[in-house]
Amino acid sequence: MEKITLNDIRYSDLAGKRFNKRFAGKPEYILLPESTKDVVDAVQEAVNSKRRPVVRSGGHCLEGFVSDPTVQVLIDVSLMTGIYYDAEKAAFAVEAGATVGEMYRRLFLGWGVVLPAGEHPGIGVGGHILGGAFGFLCREYGLAADYLYGVELVTVDASGKAFSVIATREADDPNRELWWAHTGGGGGNFGIVTRYWLRSPDSNGTDPFSALPKAPASISTFRVAWDWKDFDELSFSRLVQNFGAWSLQNSDSDSPYKPLFSILFLNHRNLGKIEIKGLSTGTNAPRLIDEHLAAIAKPIGLPYTSQIEESSWLRFALNPFPELFQPGFDNVQAKIKDAFFRRPFSDSQIATAYKYLTADVKIGGMLGMATYGGKVNTVSPDATASAQRDCILDVACNTGWMDPKGAAPSMDWVRNFYKDLFPDSGGVPVPNQQTDGSMINHPDTDLASPEWNQSGIPWYTLYYKENYPRLQKVKAKWDPLDIFYHALSIRAAD
Ligand SMILES: Cc1cc2nc3c(=O)[nH]c(=O)nc-3n(C[C@H](O)[C@H](O)[C@H](O)COP(=O)(O)OP(=O)(O)OC[C@H]3O[C@@H](n4cnc5c(N)ncnc54)[C@H](O)[C@@H]3O)c2cc1C
Repeated sequence: MEKITLNDIRYSDLAGKRFNKRFAGKPEYILLPESTKDVVDAVQEAVNSKRRPVVRSGGHCLEGFVSDPTVQVLIDVSLMTGIYYDAEKAAFAVEAGATVGEMYRRLFLGWGVVLPAGEHPGIGVGGHILGGAFGFLCREYGLAADYLYGVELVTVDASGKAFSVIATREADDPNRELWWAHTGGGGGNFGIVTRYWLRSPDSNGTDPFSALPKAPASISTFRVAWDWKDFDELSFSRLVQNFGAWSLQNSDSDSPYKPLFSILFLNHRNLGKIEIKGLSTGTNAPRLIDEHLAAIAKPIGLPYTSQIEESSWLRFALNPFPELFQPGFDNVQAKIKDAFFRRPFSDSQIATAYKYLTADVKIGGMLGMATYGGKVNTVSPDATASAQRDCILDVACNTGWMDPKGAAPSMDWVRNFYKDLFPDSGGVPVPNQQTDGSMINHPDTDLASPEWNQSGIPWYTLYYKENYPRLQKVKAKWDPLDIFYHALSIRAAD
């Protein structure tokens, strides 16, 4: 396999920044494997020459785990994009370099089925599915990782030999723990995933058309927007309270609102608007949307009109809410700080949010609240490595900037905002009655910093809760030399 080095015209593109422009790497060389054997060879050569390898699939990492100046060999699997039905495993095989959008497209056009996964079509499945992976359809169908049947991984044994291995969820599979670790353990931990096999947990036939959930026949999206200037602290508080109360009441697995997913965009006042956007599936969609908005938006006393549009699942999935992912959105430096909630925001958290979202600072930022639960909450916390299974909201404080001068005020704002949301638990959402840690697909290295996490609860408990010791055993067995690591990677021993 050809090494792409500094003088190759492809180098600057491949070594260049990916989604989050906050980070840049400078690998000695880059490899573009096209098969599992290529990946084994690539890893073997890195190990033999004592160079640090790292894998990239879709390049949407939110921290600098890939774009890291200490990485010497970048193994980019984005040419490995095969998607097909594997009759032997009675499951869909999806190679790690495929994007989420391409997976949606192939599964829909080929078989009319869907894997419930993330929102942005450009994310790579390689770094996504193994982090749990939630999205627009999670309340109805669960997490992508809940459909993981098997995984093919390239890793390195204690003698330094690279090899590939397949692990499935079959009860008698000796590698079952390795499969389990890929249902929420996160990217860059155990080796390089070359292929996933996906199949519904209850599917046991050989018919591809029923191996995954049927794709929605149609999608109804909704959007509501208010001018920030029409809000005062009281109406803001009511909106956040109503969103939390609705989520608490309607996140059970048997809720009739399971097909509805909604995000409250509490943008900083600088951005001008507060918005709700979401979608529902099925013939009841218009009614569910009306009732959802009547419960949340009506009582605040500000007029609103909802813009409802119907589209096919595929059309939506390949370009969801185009205004969110418009050109330029991926040209920012960004920081995202995520938290799971089991109960709605308290009044003091709402007051904190109001203070930060109306603060007189020149930043672009927001607090996003996404509905959660439904089918996600039907799986027990240890059945997969995605431990948070009774939450009602996933919340994120976000900021982004293009001008380097924006870095300090933006980082300062987002870090302090998040910290002040959790004043009684050391600045982080510790697992307790109200909060439940954070999502590894939205990694935040601050959780490992004593400055920003003063809870005494380590970062790995925030992400993995009681599943961490089990993940450590998988790490010790399958990557004993710790070839694959980053700032928040699983450590074989504490
Ligand atoms: C715009 C945007 C929208 C997002 N929306 C969602 C969402 O709706 N739901 C959600 O759950 N998450 C979401 N995410 C987070 C996303 O799932 C993670 O960032 C994910 O890790 C990205 O995978 P990637 O392959 O694109 O990233 P990469 O940057 O390629 O990799 C991310 C991490 O995974 C590792 N990795 C990559 N490929 C492999 C592999 N083949 N084997 C093992 N490890 C690998 C990398 O080494 C790195 O540590 C979003 C992120 C962005 C930027």
